Amino acid sequence: IVEFRGVWKRFGALEVLKDINLSVGRGEVVVIIGPSGAGKSTLCRTINRLEIIDQGEIFVDGKPQPVEGKELYKFRAGIGMVFQSFNLFSHKTILDNVTLAPRKILGQDKAVAQDTAYRLLDMVGIRSKADAMPAQLSGGQRQRAAIARALAMDPKVILFDEPTSALDPESTQDVLATMQQLAGQGTTMIVVTHEMSFARSCADRVVFMADGAIVETASPDAFFTEPESERARSFLASVR
Ligand code: ATP
Ligand code: MG
Repeated sequence: IVEFRGVWKRFGALEVLKDINLSVGRGEVVVIIGPSGAGKSTLCRTINRLEIIDQGEIFVDGKPQPVEGKELYKFRAGIGMVFQSFNLFSHKTILDNVTLAPRKILGQDKAVAQDTAYRLLDMVGIRSKADAMPAQLSGGQRQRAAIARALAMDPKVILFDEPTSALDPESTQDVLATMQQLAGQGTTMIVVTHEMSFARSCADRVVFMADGAIVETASPDAFFTEPESERARSFLASVR
């Protein structure tokens, strides 16, 4: 559903993505791991064109990315994104956060959007917070609200960029449990994380990046027991 073909990205003289070739299938959970500065966030951001690539092509759902305008806006709406923080509109209730895009972009009427929102908030375990403001939620609850908001758009794929790295251990577990549930439901997910337990238990494939390149791609079993590259071995030794 997402396909990179020979993608390069430079910031000035710095090559941040070097010849990325990667194909993520429908229902697949791909976990991207690698050291800081490897280009993981940049890779995620190129998918919905928050970063514009210098060379190569990215296809989403078999189509090239729209370049600009209304098409790009609609395209972005079909890709969920959950970042480390700053996910929610702070001056809107949780319910409004979840219903806003479906109403504005998909043209859903209020009752339909709210029904869906309550169902999703229930699924992520924060239905009781529907009328609260984001500031009244814990970090983990906010991230689960952000996941509900992404899901409300029925996205083709959801990108997670270190969704738990700003959270305490307990909230981290709550968010990982929600992500695990999504993975089990066949949601297509691209997840950048340092949570190796999540990678082990939920990934269909692990992609290891370093210095802007994909160094290896493997099943979690193979990657965690016998990484092929020295670079991956030293990385794993450092996070264990
Ligand atoms: P981390 O694990 O720390 O989040 P990452 O793998 O997500 O790292 P990126 O954020 O993708 O790494 O950054 C890759 C490289 O690109 C880094 O060297 C970073 O300094 C550089 N970089 C990222 N964004 C920009 C930008 N807007 N302008 C210039 N350089 C940038
Ligand atoms: Mg990053």
